[in-house]
Amino acid sequence: EAKKKGRAQYHFYTEVLNKKVQNTIALDKDMRKALENKEYELYYQPKTDVESGRIIGAEALIRWNSPDRGFVGPNVFIPLAEENGFIIELGNWVLQEAVNQQLEWKQKGMDITISVNVATKQLLDNAFEYVFTSIMDMSGVDPSKIDIEITEYLFLKETQKSLRVLNMIHDYGSTISLDDFGTGYSSLSYLKRFPIDNLKIDKVFMDDYATEDGAVFVETIVKMGQTLKLHVIAEGIEEKEQVEYLSSIGCVAYQGYYCSKPLNVNEFEKFYKAYLTL
Ligand code: C2E
Ligand code: MG
Ligand code: MG
Ligand code: MG
Repeated sequence: EAKKKGRAQYHFYTEVLNKKVQNTIALDKDMRKALENKEYELYYQPKTDVESGRIIGAEALIRWNSPDRGFVGPNVFIPLAEENGFIIELGNWVLQEAVNQQLEWKQKGMDITISVNVATKQLLDNAFEYVFTSIMDMSGVDPSKIDIEITEYLFLKETQKSLRVLNMIHDYGSTISLDDFGTGYSSLSYLKRFPIDNLKIDKVFMDDYATEDGAVFVETIVKMGQTLKLHVIAEGIEEKEQVEYLSSIGCVAYQGYYCSKPLNVNEFEKFYKAYLTL
């Protein structure tokens, strides 16, 4: 009886496992095809100045508009793309697309800085240096209008190489933001040695700002940022009270639904213009 049950369970688990593997294989195949089929699109979320309320930039966030799967968010496919290496090709597309958008918006009188997420695997790929400089050189974009967002995960990998590539980006004239700060592996020595311009405080800290312990973390990060002459930006701001709090502790910028969700290009243009005339 027990043996029978065990066997049935075994079959159940292998079936679940098979299903998982099959789903992953299908997703892998579909997301590569999606690039050829032009199913990816960049959305843009404003970065906002705390004091003036002005839009100081925008972060490019990828979306997959799949005819079969519907609208797929990056949390579904970016982790797999990082695992199987497709992120290199996809991420390079994102960089090119964001650069094109910067130039198009500049022509329309919206000369804003665009932040681009670059995955660790993409940044450490041997071709990245060439890809980055080629895209920048050939487009003629002002490098200071492109900001590269990295995560602390990078510091765990090939430190010498990471340092060299980040210095290359920085020397070229682009800025570097440390995304999701506080959730990963940062140590003060990295903040000192690496050419980081902006610190993005992760949403998990901002969710907790109203508690005594939570506030200690936020305020410590902001103070540290000020001391190290970093531009600190708070992520995931959804309420007015949070913006007021940021102002009271001297945090200069934020990003979050309180200002706007990520928007497609048309929506962003409308929002930006309406916002300017507020
Ligand atoms: P991230 O870079 O930390 O981006 C911020 C995420 O927080 C975005 O989710 C954004 O929509 C969400 N967010 C912004 N404000 C709020 C808020 O007030 N409340 C809440 N609940 N969420 C907010 P999204 O677009 O789903 O992206 C998730 C992650 O996927 C990104 O986190 C980034 O790590 C990754 N990702 C997105 N686009 C790209 C890309 O082009 N390349 C790479 N390598 N990664 C990307
Ligand atoms: Mg980001
Ligand atoms: Mg983030
Ligand atoms: Mg994140």
